Amino acid sequence: IGCAAVPGAPGIVARPQVQPPAADAHKYRRGLVAVVVGAMPGAARLAAAAAQGAGAGYVRLVLPDGSVSAEAVAPDLVITNPAALADPRTAALLVGPGLGRDAAAGEALAAALAPGRPAVLDADALGLLTPAALRGYPAPLVLTPHEGELAALERAFALPGEGTKLARAGALARATGAVVIAKGPDTVIAAPDGRSAFALRAPSWLAVAGTGDVLAGIAAARLAAQGDPFAAAGEAVWLHGEAARRAGPAFAASQLAAAVRSAYAACL
Ligand code: AMP
Ligand code: MG
Repeated sequence: IGCAAVPGAPGIVARPQVQPPAADAHKYRRGLVAVVVGAMPGAARLAAAAAQGAGAGYVRLVLPDGSVSAEAVAPDLVITNPAALADPRTAALLVGPGLGRDAAAGEALAAALAPGRPAVLDADALGLLTPAALRGYPAPLVLTPHEGELAALERAFALPGEGTKLARAGALARATGAVVIAKGPDTVIAAPDGRSAFALRAPSWLAVAGTGDVLAGIAAARLAAQGDPFAAAGEAVWLHGEAARRAGPAFAASQLAAAVRSAYAACL
């Protein structure tokens, strides 16, 4: 567990310890991750590949009803439709990467949240979130905003947006009931119960399109693997930084996603 901080004392994200699958493991027990595919399917593909590298047993791509996307097809990903969102075996849902911001995206987000499964919300989903959508959400949530998404969430949740990044992430965590990974060169993690953690500086090679989608996929896999969203967030941030160290320099996001497996193996 990367950051076993106590309330009030920020921890530092550190190399997590992961267990190999039990001898009697099966794909569902290792974690079924459902990734919602939107207007830009490449983002969901990056997240799905990262989730596979970070230990998920089963990764599903949830395509809009009636759509067929050649870009979404891969032999080790299962292509489904929104009916699969109701599957109670879904251990973590990921919505947001490449979702889009139009009315269809809003409906896809609402449909994805309706079953109340543990969820990672990123990217376009963060721009569509409202306090009403999260009120009383029955399962753990992780939000992964970059600076612009953090500011938009602060407006949506009527927060002042003042103080340090740690204070802002903490305020958003309390307002939403979600664990917040506030991303950037100075990534911090905050939980609604007051726990928090700093990440050590990750390689600046991460400043390239698609790396946030990779982090979201890792976070979904770790959330699926274990119940504590704060621990899952710490594991994800560490694995993301370590994958960047292993993939670098000058990687594209798909190469970062491919390196997640090697970072994960370093935690066994
Ligand atoms: P996004 O903004 O959603 O594409 O996510 C970008 C990812 O790369 C996040 O995990 C950021 O924390 C990380 N990142 C972006 N720029 C830097 C940087 N200069 N140094 C370290 N990490 C960065
Ligand atoms: Mg992003």
